[in-house]
Amino acid sequence: MNTNHFDVIVLGGGAAGLTAGIYLSRAKVSTLILNEGMVGGQMVLTYEIANYPGIEQTSGYMLSLTMKKQAETFGCVVKQNVIIKDVNLEGSVKKVVLSNNEEYTAKAVIIASGGSSRNLGIESEDTFKGRGISYCATCDGDFYTGRDIIVVGGGNSALEEAVSLTKYAKTVTIVHQFDHFQAFEHAVEAAKQNPKINFVMESTISGFYGQDQLDFVKIKNLKTNETTDRTIDGVFIFIGYMANSTKFQNKVHLNQRGEIPTDEKMATNIPGVFAAGDVREKQIRQIVTATSDGAIAAISAIEYIQNQ
Ligand SMILES: Cc1cc2nc3c(=O)[nH]c(=O)nc-3n(C[C@H](O)[C@H](O)[C@H](O)COP(=O)(O)OP(=O)(O)OC[C@H]3O[C@@H](n4cnc5c(N)ncnc54)[C@H](O)[C@@H]3O)c2cc1C
Repeated sequence: MNTNHFDVIVLGGGAAGLTAGIYLSRAKVSTLILNEGMVGGQMVLTYEIANYPGIEQTSGYMLSLTMKKQAETFGCVVKQNVIIKDVNLEGSVKKVVLSNNEEYTAKAVIIASGGSSRNLGIESEDTFKGRGISYCATCDGDFYTGRDIIVVGGGNSALEEAVSLTKYAKTVTIVHQFDHFQAFEHAVEAAKQNPKINFVMESTISGFYGQDQLDFVKIKNLKTNETTDRTIDGVFIFIGYMANSTKFQNKVHLNQRGEIPTDEKMATNIPGVFAAGDVREKQIRQIVTATSDGAIAAISAIEYIQNQ
């Protein structure tokens, strides 16, 4: 048997890909997970997860290790820190080529390459991700109950998330680079009328500082170039989101935002190619929705293989 041939190759080893790996391997379907970077994906960025059912509180790192171990226990092969050079998704034998020219083939492929929140692009931002900097109000809002926080951004999600964060935070300061918002009027009005929200316009954050946790930020006024220090408990950044799909351009149908549209079975426009998790066109991006997608994609891939 060719050791580089599998029933299913899963591209991406975050919550969606690892769950697909668990379901496939448990069904005795030979499965390879190829992950660019460290297995776990965005879960690893999350210091504390308190909303994954059945687990009261854990770190994202521990949750991803448990998922990986669970998949491997059933026989799933997991390769991390690979770089995907090329994929051929057409036909009955799909092919994936790595940057070291290793080639893998499979009867079906599940794309679970996730997404990335747009960063401010400041060096210190990476240091405090999950330690005072968050990109997810649903996930982390509760950790800032009674605290002072900043929301960066001026679009619909920034304003809507700022309002939702006032359920927890003592104060929410919206820092936005322009003198006006790029959001619907009702979202702007809701933020303006909320007594806990105040605004710092035509400004951006130019640095994050602290020991283990974020302690303070530098806020730069983009008109005057003046910089002020501000003590803060947390910063939520909502300046856009990108699906990790550049490697699948012209290989599978992507929408205008680069997300992969699927049907309810997670099938894409290419037979035998499924998509799961944050890379998919969908509204709610959480671990629980990614694992759900991964399970559905795995079952659909099994059905597809059986029907071939
Ligand atoms: C800071 C933060 C905190 C969060 N907190 C929570 C929370 O508390 N609760 C909650 O439910 N959700 C939370 N979320 C959201 C949640 O983490 C995601 O919705 C979920 O993990 C997405 O899983 P995924 O498998 O679809 O994608 P990802 O986690 O993005 O995993 C995709 C993996 O694929 C890899 N990859 C990328 N491109 C390729 C490629 N071409 N080939 C192979 N591999 C590739 C990536 O490196 C990554 O490892 C949080 C998100 C962030 C950013």
